[in-house]
Amino acid sequence: MIPPIAKMLARHLLKGPHTMKDAPRPDPDGVAELAEALGRRARARLGRSLSIREVDAGSCNGCELEIHAVNHPIYDLERFGIRFVASPRHADVLLVTGPVTRNMEEALRRTVEATPEPRWIVAMGDCGKDGGCFAGSYAVVGGVSDVVPVDLHIPGCPPSPRQILAGLLALLDAADGRLG
Ligand code: SF4
Repeated sequence: MIPPIAKMLARHLLKGPHTMKDAPRPDPDGVAELAEALGRRARARLGRSLSIREVDAGSCNGCELEIHAVNHPIYDLERFGIRFVASPRHADVLLVTGPVTRNMEEALRRTVEATPEPRWIVAMGDCGKDGGCFAGSYAVVGGVSDVVPVDLHIPGCPPSPRQILAGLLALLDAADGRLG
């Protein structure tokens, strides 16, 4: 008799991978914004790979949960050559979430300074745009662009994994010299 665990393993093996087949198209507004930003600076070729340092500038953690999702086996971000790193010194991209709180304002500036050029700064979520639902709070400075220059904004509260993936793929295309 075949044990149940063997049946389950065989069933999953025959089903094939769960990975999403087609990558989402880049958001046209985000791509236009990015292309304009790239026009203002030297274009760098990074060999079809991007390293990202995530910076939580005051997020409610909703954006972080969606960032976790792009790394799981369904979206599998690393197969596109995009990976998260632990230090801004190893990063091409800073992915900043949340409104910028007063406690994180200086830390965000220093993190940008610690990231080597060429670098891109991506503001993620409605809070990253203008403070979102936290705008006007005594604890909040504002959106990311109120503190540091922003190249691309990924909208949503929180953005879906597809929106995050589309924005990051647009960034990868730009870094690879195929936009702008
Ligand atoms: S955009 Fe939404 S999910 Fe992201 S930090 Fe702001 S409130 Fe939270």
